[in-house]
Amino acid sequence: MEITFFGATREVTGSCYLVRGKDVTFLVDCGMFQGGERNRNAPPFPFAPRDIDFVLLTHAHLDHSGRIPLLVREGFQGKIYATLPTIELCRILFYDTVKLMREEVERENRRRRRSGKPEIAPLFGEEEVEKALELFEPVGYDEIAEEKGVEFVFRNAAHILGAAVLEVWGEGTKVVFSGDIGQFGNVMEGSPPVIEEADFVVIESTYGNRRHKTLEETRREFAQVMQDAMGTCGKVLIPTFVVDRAQRVLYEIRLLRDSVGLHCPVYFDSPLGKQTTDIYLKYRHLLSGELERLHLQDDDPFGFPGLTYVTTPEESKALNDLDHAIILAGSGMCTGGRILHHLKHNLFKATTTVVFVGFQSRGTLGRALVDGAKLVHIFDEDIAVRARIATINGFSAHGDQEDLLRWVGYFRSRPVFLVTHGEEEIAEAFAQALREKGFEAIVPAFGDTLDLPRRTVVAVPRMPEKEDIVERLEREIQKLRGRTLTQESEVLLQSALILLEEAGRRSTSADELPKDGV
Ligand SMILES: [Zn+2]
Repeated sequence: MEITFFGATREVTGSCYLVRGKDVTFLVDCGMFQGGERNRNAPPFPFAPRDIDFVLLTHAHLDHSGRIPLLVREGFQGKIYATLPTIELCRILFYDTVKLMREEVERENRRRRRSGKPEIAPLFGEEEVEKALELFEPVGYDEIAEEKGVEFVFRNAAHILGAAVLEVWGEGTKVVFSGDIGQFGNVMEGSPPVIEEADFVVIESTYGNRRHKTLEETRREFAQVMQDAMGTCGKVLIPTFVVDRAQRVLYEIRLLRDSVGLHCPVYFDSPLGKQTTDIYLKYRHLLSGELERLHLQDDDPFGFPGLTYVTTPEESKALNDLDHAIILAGSGMCTGGRILHHLKHNLFKATTTVVFVGFQSRGTLGRALVDGAKLVHIFDEDIAVRARIATINGFSAHGDQEDLLRWVGYFRSRPVFLVTHGEEEIAEAFAQALREKGFEAIVPAFGDTLDLPRRTVVAVPRMPEKEDIVERLEREIQKLRGRTLTQESEVLLQSALILLEEAGRRSTSADELPKDGV
């Protein structure tokens, strides 16, 4: 097999990897380029969509999934494998993208008509989204699926709901695709999966050279920023991805209400906010123990008194009349969405606080604000920036360098790491960190093709050997230390103990082994 990198190469968006075998061609992810790279989304693709047999989709974020409707428009007809929550989230995000693109194209065409330039069309519409959704094929976590001799398993990546790390076997080679991986002990989705064997690992490196603050530090920092913001009696604007980060922030605000008495009306201003939160509640069994515990107590982790979901544009505009409020709105990097209106009306006020809670890609308005711009351009208007700008990175759905290296450390085979999904210097720094650990690491460039030769005999999941089981048990016990157990998990552990005792009774120690002639 061979792999060609058609996105997320020395950059963080546009994830798209083409894998070719003797009789099979498939894609892992087909994401949009975002920020300053958006013009790279227009077709043609650097391959023939009609020749792709199937797509494996790691998760719903548009930088991994957003060009799928375009792929369908250009002739792709195969299956798109993804977890069920990913499919549900894609449905919401794809239709929203159609709407946003249409609005943007209309604005652009008005300009073009005035200057006598030819009009442009959106990349895709509802029809392509519908067709794409019909091609989705749900795969449960940890199930082995197969197509055209390629076997694959989706593991919970602890990044956003439904996100997966992929284990893929084909032609005697095993390749692991990290997709995006979360922090260990992620408040939302738990911890990334332990994978021990691979020949090649395509690994993200968004935060490959950085350290996140600890959970305690992050919570303290957020509490301080929010309390300071309350002191100005102005608005607090939180640009956020509507999927995952918004729910995390709602949960953190809920905690602050209890701990420091933060009582201010909160508006989640997004036509998708309610639907997205509902999907998180629907798949709550996939969330972390911390959130599940609340569910067991019949408590909604993302809900609290004073929270309002703002759906219509009229309701959204009405928020302009408020002096004091916390407003969450997309998009997370301020590249579009309702946050732009709120920024336009509030950035020039010294009483406003803008709290960034996610990565800001180069070329975006969010990045400009984080980098300290004093004047920005929104909807054809110059806006002075007098608001306070705060950044909380610890809520990231991505692991930091320590998390990534810890994940890498579980591999007992010595895979070659193909480092992607990080800005150039970050990807290089992470590759260097891998080399210092004795691994081979390559940072591919756009269009690079690498051979994926059979390196070791890596088989599709088998019964683990005895040492594997004992080591795995030790690791699992280690993970449990320091965690608060729910009633349900205690019951599960009791059953595990009974089974463990039974396994002990049925096993033999070395000196009990039958000897020859006995
Ligand atoms: Zn992602």
